[in-house]
Amino acid sequence: MRVFADYNAGAPVRPEAEAALLEALRAGGNASSIHAVGRAQKGRLERAREALAGALGAEPQNLVFTSGATEAAHLVMAAACVAGFARLIVSAVEHDAVFEEARARGAAVAPVDADGRLDLAAFEALCAQAGGAFLACVMLANNETGVLQPVAEAARLVRLAGGVTLCDASQALGRVPVDLQALEADYVIASSHKVGGPPGAGVIALAPGAPFATVHRGGGQERGRRPGTENPPAIAGFGAAAAAALVALPGEAARLKALRDRFEHDLAASRSEVVFFGRGADRLPNTSAFALPGVLAETAVISLDLAGLAVSSGAACSSGKVKESRVLAAMGVPEALRGSALRVSLGWSSAERDVDALVAGIAALRSRTSARILQGAA
Ligand code: PLP
Repeated sequence: MRVFADYNAGAPVRPEAEAALLEALRAGGNASSIHAVGRAQKGRLERAREALAGALGAEPQNLVFTSGATEAAHLVMAAACVAGFARLIVSAVEHDAVFEEARARGAAVAPVDADGRLDLAAFEALCAQAGGAFLACVMLANNETGVLQPVAEAARLVRLAGGVTLCDASQALGRVPVDLQALEADYVIASSHKVGGPPGAGVIALAPGAPFATVHRGGGQERGRRPGTENPPAIAGFGAAAAAALVALPGEAARLKALRDRFEHDLAASRSEVVFFGRGADRLPNTSAFALPGVLAETAVISLDLAGLAVSSGAACSSGKVKESRVLAAMGVPEALRGSALRVSLGWSSAERDVDALVAGIAALRSRTSARILQGAA
């Protein structure tokens, strides 16, 4: 039996998304062409735009399709910078896609508490220091821990200090409600492959009047905000995935929370020594972050993979190597535990038997490792 419990890295493509992707791929053509084939592609793009606008609480004309959340974040930072919002504040727990670019642009880093929640008092002080016309980056849900941030409160502080807010909702879309207005953000970004769409599409939702100066020039696609031929198969798949996730959301959130809570309860009861992260905060319903003290994350991931269980270390890394978690470090988790951090993330195809297999696999891994430690000591 194979179990996939790494949805936060990339969700399996939903059947609705696969159908929409294949239809657009087979149809071919360029969405800018005026003939029937081009117009049909344009229609698919616009239907996806409507679906995503609905999912994000934005106006369709204020959506900008990109190749993913990384490009979306970079484009917002560049467009805001050219519009005069050059100074940056970034939360310490942002994904590298946001954090690395913000730091390269000289961002001040806002700390978080032991559960990974933004320290609003420290954040407010940074907003005051920024002196107006700045961009603050505060994600909605963390990819490693699932912890939800007080985005609306932060965005209010930002606005009072004369800044604008970018909210990365890549992990939140389809798992908790995402609404541009309720978040009080100026920009919300998301990524197709996190919600069960194909990789290669992302989106920026702009609040009315959000500063967005021209960064790239070219064929004028996406109202000139992101020129270049669009990717109809990926975007159509993204729209279909977001629409399916939105319809299922209320029931799915409760179902996933029950599965995740069962996983954490049974894991804690399975004689395994286990430390959970972020449990004191509101979290995504699908994510569990924890450490098995004394078991290296890299060893655990490989060993569980051999047993047919796909989980992740704290943070995935493009090289396939396990990287030390900056997020857990910002939460004050000691170094020894950070090296043992694992993440189980569930989604639309997860079932109770998956959770049972995960608990059994991790308990077996734990007892194998304990036996080895005891033999070593003897
Ligand atoms: N933001 C978050 C919270 C993520 O989890 C990820 C992907 O892991 C990204 C941004 C980057 O998204 P993409 O791969 O679409 O560029």
